[in-house]
Amino acid sequence: MCDIKHSIELSNVSDNDKFSYPIIPLKGSICNRCSSDLKVQIDNCEWPVSKDLRFTNDKRGRFKLLLRLKKWDNLVTLSYCNYELKLSLFYAGSENSYSVIPLYIICEGHDGRYQSDTDENDIKSACNKITLGIELVQSLYAEKLAEKGFGRKTFTIGSLCLPFHSKLSLEESKKMTDQELWNYFAREILLSELYQAEKQKFVGFISSTYYEGVSNNDFSYANIKRRTTGNATLGGGGLALFGTGCLYTWPEKLVDIVPAFLNGKQVNRKLMMDDSNYRHTYGGCYATTIGSVCHEMGHIFDLGHTKDGIMGSELDHINRVFTLITTTEDLPERIVGRNTDVRRSMNSKLTQIKRPGEFLLKYQQQKESDITYFTNNCAITLQLHKWFNCDTCTSDNNCDTRLSFNFVTRIVTSVNSFLKLVELREREDGMLKVYWSFLDGNIDCFQITRDILLDGLTLFVIDNFGNILKQDL
Ligand SMILES: [Zn+2]
Ligand SMILES: [Zn+2]
Repeated sequence: MCDIKHSIELSNVSDNDKFSYPIIPLKGSICNRCSSDLKVQIDNCEWPVSKDLRFTNDKRGRFKLLLRLKKWDNLVTLSYCNYELKLSLFYAGSENSYSVIPLYIICEGHDGRYQSDTDENDIKSACNKITLGIELVQSLYAEKLAEKGFGRKTFTIGSLCLPFHSKLSLEESKKMTDQELWNYFAREILLSELYQAEKQKFVGFISSTYYEGVSNNDFSYANIKRRTTGNATLGGGGLALFGTGCLYTWPEKLVDIVPAFLNGKQVNRKLMMDDSNYRHTYGGCYATTIGSVCHEMGHIFDLGHTKDGIMGSELDHINRVFTLITTTEDLPERIVGRNTDVRRSMNSKLTQIKRPGEFLLKYQQQKESDITYFTNNCAITLQLHKWFNCDTCTSDNNCDTRLSFNFVTRIVTSVNSFLKLVELREREDGMLKVYWSFLDGNIDCFQITRDILLDGLTLFVIDNFGNILKQDL
């Protein structure tokens, strides 16, 4: 029997915490090492988890683990050798009728098999991966809003990922740009029976994304993109649309999430798509593509761009949220911007990546340790957004509210509600220029000062009920 005195501490979750979503990250530390492993039980049954546990010396270990709560009460026991930590966690599900529905979009004439390095790439496998990926993003949003002090608010997932059989032929789809694909699928989904009463937003993955490979050794992102069809990365309005070029790097099961992020296997770039922001590994592809999902879903929740954070250039480090990867990966800086042929009102984007070496990521160490966060203005919008609040609490009888902007007086006004955030964004790329927040006060009018030139800007306003005004100035 071991006579070392161990202990376990958790840093992000407390006893009796309540959750509206199932996948929970637990972060913490273990004191004093022996040969044991960290075990997790729920209601005294061995429970599958995905974990990263590392000791820096005999005295100090850290861990991050992911577990899936079952509905209602969960008595969670973390044990390390002779030490046990018990906590009771409650998962109630969500009562929000506004939801996000993940879809696996299959064009006419396509068999639904995504490009993969194995033959386990059928529709079922894709849907499992996508469902799990969206659940992970859901958990990440909650965690990141909680870190900002807004509680664990997140969006509701309306169903498991559904196959969506499009009328668009595979051949047609190959000729279309990202924006054309977005326009087509957005319209088709809106006209389908899935869409009801403006309470759904969709996250679609195109099954037929095809990377034809690179033979001239030009593995720049631009060239990889040129040699790929049906690989959109575009979000806005009610649809975030993605390709499945890197779905082969995504795990199907919760226990495989951490290993997938840690997977250092090199991508055979001659055959398989590499979207890892120049890390060239399976784990890098998973981190970057899940990061893109976080970013594009931000756009469907009406977020614009920010210089940094998830809505800026820092979406490649999602791996650090769920693992103990700490080495600073010197990744090239991203430029987020709107492609010129993208419809302006949709506030959508293409993420382009500069070649490596042009910029090094700076100031990383000063930022939060996992360098994945929403900036304050984005967090404020999300925590007020209808998709992030149970509608019984925001009350549905707020239909008389009205937000408006007077160009002459430059005054933003709310009727029967209070202004919480006013943003000015560049119209061209949705980049934040300036914002004002009024979280504590009850303000129903706000004047934008005369020294700000409004030309070429977009006004974004959200009130305490989550009503939004977006207007080009
Ligand atoms: Zn021990
Ligand atoms: Zn964007």
